[in-house]
Amino acid sequence: MSECSHDCSKCSEKCASRDKSSFLAPQNPLSNVKHVIGIVSGKGGVGKSIVTSMLATIMQRRGYQSAVLDADITGPSIPRGFGLKPASVVGDENGMFPPKTKTGIEVMSLNLLVEEEAKPVVWRGPVIAGTVKQFWSEVVWNEVDYMFVDMPPGTGDVPLTVFQSLPLDGIIIVASPQELVSMIVSKAIKMANLMDINVLGLVENMSYFKCPDCGKEYKIFGDSNIEKLAEEYGIPLLARIPIDPRLTKLVDSGAIELFEGDYLENAADIIEKV
Ligand code: ADP
Repeated sequence: MSECSHDCSKCSEKCASRDKSSFLAPQNPLSNVKHVIGIVSGKGGVGKSIVTSMLATIMQRRGYQSAVLDADITGPSIPRGFGLKPASVVGDENGMFPPKTKTGIEVMSLNLLVEEEAKPVVWRGPVIAGTVKQFWSEVVWNEVDYMFVDMPPGTGDVPLTVFQSLPLDGIIIVASPQELVSMIVSKAIKMANLMDINVLGLVENMSYFKCPDCGKEYKIFGDSNIEKLAEEYGIPLLARIPIDPRLTKLVDSGAIELFEGDYLENAADIIEKV
């Protein structure tokens, strides 16, 4: 065995420091989270947060208790979609209590702790990763059936630490057709494989736009190779979500829980079997 560089992403040795459990942050003693699903993307702005919010909503509609941990610390957009207000977290000696959405989904996000949502988070990587660990260890999550983690985008240092800190049952990768033709998605899949994390499937967002007048579908971002990619890596293609201005409107008005459409039912079926 060669000398350890402490960079597991560049090494395939099955050594003790690779033991996943050694990196896991402890769950709060008062929390009982049964399943943790990470929602991942190669870059920001592709719809990771909206997919996270919609999946949490579907599982809540199906009678489960959902929760969302917003680990996208530098671009936290989960509270806005659910209409949750800044500085709305209360706590006591046991930890912080996650605010609940209108349908009862528990949410924790940096934007729920700060007074000013628009202030940028100018923090170094370890501080960001430490905050995510605190959201897991110092938040009193109740009985949660499915927790969805809106992961920091990319395959850098921060997502790597978050991947190692939380007991993920699996991840769902969200991408737009543009990234699918590049290497970004392949990189995210390879990173998950390297870390022994189960990829539950791919979601293609902003796949097309359906003209409300004539019903014709337009591929605004061009054709994607998602089917080829899914086949190449043996990963299911879970959904193709169109560009739908009604979704943008619901997010902007804090009412994402009212979304209609069955785009993500397939993904929810897979999550139910985790
Ligand atoms: P990310 O979490 O990947 O940064 P978001 O989920 O915040 O991306 O989405 C970026 C923006 O695009 C948001 O304003 C969101 O409402 C909008 N958006 C995402 N997906 C769709 C879609 N399918 N149709 C319409 N608007 C969308």
